[in-house]
This record gives sequence, structure tokens and C-alpha cells, in this order.
Amino acid sequence: MNMSVLRFYCLLMVTTLAFIHLSCDEKEQEILQEVTIIGGGLMGSATAWHLSQRGIKVLLLEKQDSIYTQGSSHGTARIARSSNRGNDIWSFLHDRSVVETQILIDSLNAMDENAHASMEDIYTTTPVTYVGRMAIYDKLLASLIRQKVDFDLAINPQEALTRLGVRLPADVLIQREYNKYSGTVNPQQLIRLLHQAIRNLGGRIEYQTQVRSISYNPDSEGYLIEVENATQGTNSLIASKKVVCAAGPYTSRLTKNIAPYFDTLINPQRVFLSFLQIKPEVYHQLSAEHKEKIFQYYPVINSAEGTRSGSFFSMIEHVDQSGNPVIKIGGHFQRSSIEDLDKVWHKDLSAAEISWSIQNTSDYFELLNIPLDTSHLELVDQYSCVYSLTKSEVPFVTPIPDASGAPNRDFIVLGGMSGVGAKGAMTYGLIAANHLTNSHEDGPMYNEVRKAIGFERLSQDLGIKSPSN
Ligand SMILES: Cc1cc2nc3c(=O)[nH]c(=O)nc-3n(C[C@H](O)[C@H](O)[C@H](O)COP(=O)(O)OP(=O)(O)OC[C@H]3O[C@@H](n4cnc5c(N)ncnc54)[C@H](O)[C@@H]3O)c2cc1C
Repeated sequence: MNMSVLRFYCLLMVTTLAFIHLSCDEKEQEILQEVTIIGGGLMGSATAWHLSQRGIKVLLLEKQDSIYTQGSSHGTARIARSSNRGNDIWSFLHDRSVVETQILIDSLNAMDENAHASMEDIYTTTPVTYVGRMAIYDKLLASLIRQKVDFDLAINPQEALTRLGVRLPADVLIQREYNKYSGTVNPQQLIRLLHQAIRNLGGRIEYQTQVRSISYNPDSEGYLIEVENATQGTNSLIASKKVVCAAGPYTSRLTKNIAPYFDTLINPQRVFLSFLQIKPEVYHQLSAEHKEKIFQYYPVINSAEGTRSGSFFSMIEHVDQSGNPVIKIGGHFQRSSIEDLDKVWHKDLSAAEISWSIQNTSDYFELLNIPLDTSHLELVDQYSCVYSLTKSEVPFVTPIPDASGAPNRDFIVLGGMSGVGAKGAMTYGLIAANHLTNSHEDGPMYNEVRKAIGFERLSQDLGIKSPSN
């Protein structure tokens, strides 16, 4: 071998070794994480943002693509409201989320002058209508005053007709809420802006990356996360010091090695959503006043019948090009068991579910005094979705207990979000980030919420003595 060939091979070897060394370094850096968040729905994304804001470089793993198409946060509208009869924690969760969302918007605009992010990307401010039984009146009035809601209330048919132009049955009241940013919140936009802000602050988001299992690794006193990347067709292991599990209905499945009890504490149930339109030829014949009234009286939570099957929530999901609104309707109590969680999202609605949706929408138009009945409505879309329910329907945002029963702040679970998650998502994420970084806040309502959804509650449910929260 002559000298120049030898020199060539030496150079090649040095370059190759340097490359291998670099790749190993890169790989090690890539797989040793400070905090890994599983689930890029509302909860995981909000938590990742709050941690990023504190200078923590997060890794967010999401099994879907960057366009969110399946999960409890799917869609463009959820009801957001300050008013909650009786229970002030829901009111606080919404109000604080509005404040936190403004911080997100300001941060996006400060980091990029072309961002043009605005609160209106996320919230619509529209009156929220509540129809309920008169039996709730005293409790409702007390909470409206406590919760500082700007409201209007009609409590008998005469008053409702003269003041609001609606036909109220006897023993039923109608309440209207007018707080700023009460109306609807758009989960799709909120997730999009959160992901943008996380990336701006150096966080990494891996889409199409499905977590297969999580286990504790005593050697490194951290966690090993087994993932499958659908785009690359690869499997790998991620070592992470801390983990946040926010996988929505899949949370119990993923925590089975670490916290198997979530399987009994969180119960995913199927719920359905119908999307209805007034037939175009009918809609465009309505008077301007009736059209305006439709926009003014959605979203609505209607429990006038006082029965679980008769209660529904409904809102305008979006408006088509001709100005005709697409009205979404579902029922908090219209839930059923799930045979296969992976397949439930594709389950079609039954004829009875569609007819329930059309009938309730038609009945609401009757109450609004708008001349429409079931024959004027058509189904334009539908899908099945999932509520993750706890026994009390209050979610969990909590560290898990360690072997001594004390909170292990290296593993935080957000789960059991049922139908209350969206309006409070930014606050749930804040509380999760505070758990993980062992940060505290002084406000009495903040601490009441943290307790209601946190470690003390989990300890109680598990029947263990809680040393401290
Ligand atoms: C029909 C319906 C109506 C609702 N109405 C309202 C309302 O009016 N107002 C309100 O405030 N709230 C409402 N909610 C509640 C709110 O939408 C949910 O509480 C919230 O979206 C839950 O968010 P999440 O992040 O916990 O779950 P998800 O959105 O399900 O997020 C979990 C994420 O984890 C990902 N994931 C799962 N498994 C894995 C894995 N193995 N690896 C990687 N990623 C994984 C999923 O793809 C998903 O993106 C409603 C919910 C439903 C279903």
C-alpha cells in the first residue's frame, strides 16, 4: 500500500470515527430527556407550554400527525363559560385560562412580529344560554353573584316572552351570560398556537410517534419510554427524568406499569356529536331577525326537561360559505361503553342518536320562537368521541404516589377530563407544570382547585394517607 492510499484510509477512518462519535453524542443528547410529555391534545400541549415558559426544554410526543384529527380535543368549538351553577372551581378554571391564554398570545406576538396571534383566534365572545329547572334558582343566583358573572335571568314564561322573545315552559328559567371570552373556545387553534409557542422556546414536538410503554428505570432513577415512529417505521427507547402523561382516554393504558390503579379510576365512555344545518332553502328564507337570534342563542346548555336523556349542549361549530351555521349537538349524559378504544372514533351514530339530535334542536327552535321543525333540519356530519370519566366527574391533575405514599413529582398524570377540559385547559396545564417544578401559588381558589383535582383526592380515592400535596 503506498503512502497516499494509507493517508487516504487514515483520513477516512478518522472522519468515520469522528462521525460515529458525533452521531453517538447526538443520539445520546436526543434520547436523554429532562421532561417528556405524552399526548399533544389540549392537556399535554398546555403543560408543555407552561414548562417551556420556565426554560425547560420539553419533548412532546403525539401519535397523530400535526393536524389533529382524533381525540377528545378534536373540533373547532367547545363551550367556554365563567358561570357554573354551584361549583366555583369550574368558573375559576375558565377565568384563569383566559388570563393564561392572553399570556400565550402576547408571547407569540413578542417573539415574532408576523405572528399576528389574537384572543379571537381562540375564543368567540357570545352570550351563553342556560335553560334549567326553577328548582335550581336559589343556588344559581348565589353562584352567579359569587362568580362575578354578567348575566340576565328570566324566571317565568311571561318575563321570558316580553324581555327575550322566547317561549319558556312553566317551572323553567333561562339565564344568559355575557362575560368577555365566554362563548366558545377553539381547541384546534389553541393546540396549533401552543405548539408554535413551544417550538419558539426550543421545545421539540414529535408527531406520528406513539408511546408503546412506560417503565421505571431504577438505574437512572428515571423512566424508559418505548416509542414507535410511524413515518420512519422505527422503534426506539427514550430515557426521561420526568414524565407527564396526558394521553386522554389512553392514559390508563399507558400508566399500567407505573400506576395501574388509573384503570379503575378513569373510565372512557363513548359520546356522539351530530352536526346539523337548517336546509339551505329554508335558512335563506328566514327573516334577518330570526337568523340573528340563532347566532345570539348559541351556545346553549339545556336541561329544562330535568332528565339526563333530555339534557343537551349545542353550539355553532362553524358557518358555511353562504352564512348558514353548522350546529353541533351532543349530550353530556348520552354516553355508552366502549368495546374497542382504537375503533370507537369511527363508529357511526345510530338512527336513535340522530333522531335525538334533530328532535332536541327542533324543540330548542320552538323555545326560541323560530318557525322551524324537524323537517327543516338535516344531518351534515357526525362522529363518535370519548369522555374520560372519573366517578365524581372531576378530573385528575396529580403526581402519583411513590412507595412511601408521598407525591412523586417526576410523574404527573392529567386524566379524566370528561366534558370540562377545554375551557380550563390552560389552567390544568399550569397546575401540572407547578407540580412538576414543585412551584406553589397563594390564591385560595387556585389551591382549592389543585386540591380537588390533585394528590389529596387521588390519595383519598386510593385509600392511602396523604403525607402532603
Ligand atoms: C364531545 C365532547 C364535547 C365536549 N365539550 C366540552 C365543552 O363544551 N367545554 C369544555 O370545556 N370541554 C368540553 N369537552 C372536554 C374537552 O374537549 C376534553 O376534556 C379535552 O379535550 C381533553 O383533552 P386531553 O388532552 O385530555 O385529551 P385528548 O385530546 O384525547 O389528547 C390526548 C392526546 O394523546 C395522544 N395519544 C394517545 N395515546 C398516545 C400514545 N400512546 N402515544 C402518543 N400520543 C398518544 C392522542 O392522539 C391525543 O392527541 C368535550 C369533550 C368531548 C369529547
